[in-house]
Amino acid sequence: MRIDPHTHSTASDGTETPTQLMTSARHAALDVVGLTDHDTTAGWGEAAAAVPRTGVALLRGMEFSARHHGISIHILGFLFDDADADIQTHCRRVRESRVGRARAMVERLAADVPVNWEDVVAQVSGNATIGRPHIADALVSRGVVRTRAEAFDRFLNPRSPYYVPHYAPRATEVIHWVKKAGGEAVFAHPQAPQRGRVVPWEAFEELAQAGLFGVEIDHRDNAPESIPCLEKVAASLHLARFGASDYHGAGKPNRLGEHATSPAVIEALTERCLLEVIYP
Ligand code: AMP
Ligand code: ZN
Ligand code: FE
Ligand code: FE
Repeated sequence: MRIDPHTHSTASDGTETPTQLMTSARHAALDVVGLTDHDTTAGWGEAAAAVPRTGVALLRGMEFSARHHGISIHILGFLFDDADADIQTHCRRVRESRVGRARAMVERLAADVPVNWEDVVAQVSGNATIGRPHIADALVSRGVVRTRAEAFDRFLNPRSPYYVPHYAPRATEVIHWVKKAGGEAVFAHPQAPQRGRVVPWEAFEELAQAGLFGVEIDHRDNAPESIPCLEKVAASLHLARFGASDYHGAGKPNRLGEHATSPAVIEALTERCLLEVIYP
């Protein structure tokens, strides 16, 4: 069983539609794929419809934008009821804030490079959750940079003068909402210094107390030297070990299945959750 629980589609900042993602998952020989778009579950229905044809099972999830003591972090929520009022409010608030934030970043960028809001809108499919990767794609389309990676290095990283933050709720609150809606929560890429400040080790205890289920240990953005400590902390707090690709399609080098989560962990997850994995 090969399980990759954390990926993105065009419902947020991935480059493949949910249907294309499911086909890619089949070509990558995955048995189960998790669709975890940023602050939206809009891709769930289309991905579920592709389960019978592709033979790949679907784990429904979402990557929540959150913060812990002022540090931006991501929390994966799995198998929760997405009609829950608090979760709907979360999505609406964060997605609205992401639009204002992207506009503000483009305004700053436009002072120095040829790019405008229309260029960014042209990169966003439908009602997708907007993020910096869409600004990166606009910079690529204008020939300012060659790749998303170059756009992040030169213009979009949190240390850049063009960077503007967006609203995000407390991670402890997010964990509470996910559990209340019948799901479980996992701390995504917790030791990724190139994404910005990382939380201190005490944070894991606070999040565990709030009901965190697992930690994404096997992820390409976690600093390799932090893995032994992550393993120790997760074991001592009884947090499940997750691994995933964080696949975004053509936008990033991450390949489907480059990291995986054990069937035992996914079984323990589903036993505690309201929704089920959708099998072919
Ligand atoms: P945002 O949601 O606007 O904060 O943007 C975060 C997204 O940008 C994440 O999904 C990352 O996958 C993506 N990202 C972060 N750093 C890079 C990079 N160096 N190259 C490509 N994508 C990146
Ligand atoms: Zn993303
Ligand atoms: Fe993330
Ligand atoms: Fe992600």
